[in-house]
Parts: sequence; structure tokens; C-alpha cells
Amino acid sequence: MALIVQKYGGTSVGNPERIKNVAKRVAKFQAEGHQVVVVVSAMSGETNRLIALAKDISATPDPRELDVVISTGEQVTIGLLCMALKEAGVEARSYTGAQVRILTDSSFTKARILDIDGENMRRDLDAGSVVVVAGFQGVDEQGNITTLGRGGSDTTGVALAAALKADECQIYTDVDGVYTTDPRIVPEARKLDTITFEEMLEMASLGSKVLQIRSVEFAGKYKVKLRVLSSFEDGGEGTLITVEEDKNMEQPIISGIAFNRDEAKITVQGVPDKPGIAYQILGPVADANIDVDMIIQNVSHDGTTDFSFTVNRPDYDKAIKVLEQVKAHTGAREVNGDRTMAKVSIVGVGMRSHPGVASRMFRTLAEEGINIQMISTSEIKISVVIDEKYLELAVRVLHRAFGLDQAPA
Ligand code: ADP
Ligand code: ASP
Ligand code: MG
Repeated sequence: MALIVQKYGGTSVGNPERIKNVAKRVAKFQAEGHQVVVVVSAMSGETNRLIALAKDISATPDPRELDVVISTGEQVTIGLLCMALKEAGVEARSYTGAQVRILTDSSFTKARILDIDGENMRRDLDAGSVVVVAGFQGVDEQGNITTLGRGGSDTTGVALAAALKADECQIYTDVDGVYTTDPRIVPEARKLDTITFEEMLEMASLGSKVLQIRSVEFAGKYKVKLRVLSSFEDGGEGTLITVEEDKNMEQPIISGIAFNRDEAKITVQGVPDKPGIAYQILGPVADANIDVDMIIQNVSHDGTTDFSFTVNRPDYDKAIKVLEQVKAHTGAREVNGDRTMAKVSIVGVGMRSHPGVASRMFRTLAEEGINIQMISTSEIKISVVIDEKYLELAVRVLHRAFGLDQAPA
């Protein structure tokens, strides 16, 4: 007998038929003698609908109240799934995050899990019940409802698996595993049987939303066996996220391509090139709670330099406003930018032992006439910022250039 945590995403519980289908799958696992904890997302589109509702009332909704609103989607699905399980003859009990007591900090809309009380769940499991938990939500020390950030149900699933020392955490979604890149953009993308935690972390942080990055961090930290599978197909093995690279196997140079459309670039031109200037520019940006990603400072001419960086597109207007003030007191010449940028990244642990990966990437993009505006590298990834209109082309040509459409020998 195994204890399994299964997480079903929004599309997988998108309508009553699909919820019944999930109930059937869960019932089958239980009939095989396993204990099952199920984590569900809100029905697809529901969280977006709730956010839009809140924005209709207030352009900048109060974060505590926003969490009260957007956590409701998951409460609906846990109740519906338990009803479906009971209809299928399976004992089941639903829990909100607060009812489990998934304790988080108080950072509304991006709370972090601090502790999980496993007692109620264990009691129900031992009594032969399936336990159904609302993803994406928790409760803080004061009893306030919190949410874990978009895609946060993945993290609920992994965190419950860690807390209950489950044998496996299965993330069921609308694709049958982790692919070399988003299969919706590149039809030739291939499903990976395994991917290392390190690579999955990069893929998630660079824009592949198949797993929320925190869920991967959690699984790595607590050694949770994590697998991504399809909720629509039967019998597949999905993709296993592995701790160790297979030392016996020749690593592919590149394992996957991630991308993010939501980038914007800002340039502060003609700033005096002297100590403290980066701090004077980026300090106020950080104080305004704006995340900065890539940063480039050019060599100076005549004692002044240009300073460029990227931010998330929704933060662009706010950042420009902050920088207009910075301009005034640093004596910078101009602030300008472009909100239609995208970032494309190639990821692979095999890069460590293969030189020439960057030049192949740059040549491939050059051959398509795609201008690279910024570059950043680490040991296992290379990211470039390009005009958004070339994004899909860039992903497709890089996918081909690195042989990702071909099965490894
Ligand atoms: P869920 O609602 O189940 O949480 P998500 O929409 O959050 O599902 O994540 C699944 C989606 O992630 C897929 O439909 C796919 O379009 C996208 N995706 C992006 N990159 C990848 C990748 N490398 N492999 C698989 N899916 C990916
Ligand atoms: N419902 C939440 C969202 O749409 C959480 C999730 O689906 O993982 O972001
Ligand atoms: Mg998701």
C-alpha cells in the first residue's frame, strides 16, 4: 500500500464531466489499495474571473480581501469532487487550506507555507477515506486566508506530500508530462521521461508554467518523488523529476527551451558613470516592489553611460514613473523602454561539459535575422531578450538547431 498525493489542475476539473472523470481515477487508485490525498485547483478560468471581478471594484484591490475572493475557486472544486467520489461509492472528505491548517506567512497573494498539520488527514486516511484538499490556499497565524501565487496548487500538492511523507506526488495536467518546450508552441516538442530538479527549476523560473517554481524547490528540499502526468490519458509514465543526473548516460546538451512573453525593457540613458549609480537607479525600483531581471551597464563615453534592465511587463508603467524621478536627481539624460519584449532560454546540465552552446544559439538566431537585445548566462542556461514578435520563431528554430525534436540516441 502506498500513500499518494495527486494534484489535478484547472483544465482537469474544468466541468462536471471532468470532475466525475477525476473521481473515477481516484476511485481506481483507492481500489488498488492505496491511500489517496487529492489536491485540486479551481475550475479552469475561474481564478482569472475572480481577479477580474476584484479589479472591476478596485484597480488596486486590498491584498487581504483579494485572497478572500480568489481562494473561493478551489473551495468549489473540493466540494464538487467529494460529491462525485461519494456518487462513485468512495468515502471522501474535503478540506480548505485553513481546515487542514496549512500555515503560511502573511504575504497575501504570494504566501509561503511554514507548516502543515497532518493530523486530520491521517485520521481520515486511516479510516479509509479519500482526503480532498483545496490547492493554492492557506491560513496565517492570525487566521487570515492567504494564497500561494498563480499556479500555487502544485506547491500545495508537493507540500502535502512532504508533510505526509507520501510515496509519490503526481501532478495531473492537460499534457502528459514535461516537454522539451511548450507543445502548444512547437508541435514537434518531445515528452521527456526524466528531467533533473536543477533543470526543472530553471525551466519553471524562466517561464515554463507546467510546474510552479516553488513546488519544484519544495520537492527538491524535502526529497519528494515528483511526477507530471496527463489526467486525460491512461497508462503513461509521465515525466519523473530526478535528483541525480544519470551518470551512465550521455547527457543531451540541451534538455529544454523555456520562454516568457511578459517582459519589458527599460533604458536610462546618459547617467553619470560613478560609484553608486546602479544603486541610485535600482534602489527606488526595488523599493517600489518591482522585480528586476537582466541588467546591463554599458562602457562609458565622456563620463556617462547607459543602463538597461528588464522588468515584468505589468510593472512597466510603474517602473517608468519611478525612473522619471530618479532621472531628475541623478542628472540622467533620458528614460525610455519597450514593453513588448520576450525572453527565450535554453536549459541543460549537459552545457557544463560542452563548449560552443552559446555561439550555436546566437548563430541560429542571427540566421533568422532575430536581434538579441540582452543576454544572461549561468552554468546550465542561456537566456536572451528579443522582440516579442520573434518569440515563436526563435523557439522553433532553436528547438530544431539543438536537435530537440529528435529522440536521443
Ligand atoms: P494546470 O491547470 O493543470 O496546472 P497549467 O496550464 O498550469 O496546467 O500547466 C500546463 C501547461 O503548461 C500545458 O498545457 C503547456 O501549455 C504548458 N507548458 C509550458 N511549457 C511546458 C513544457 N516544457 N512541457 C509541458 N507543458 C508546458
Ligand atoms: N487556481 C490558481 C491559479 O489559477 C492556482 C492553480 O491553479 O494552481 O493560479
Ligand atoms: Mg498550473
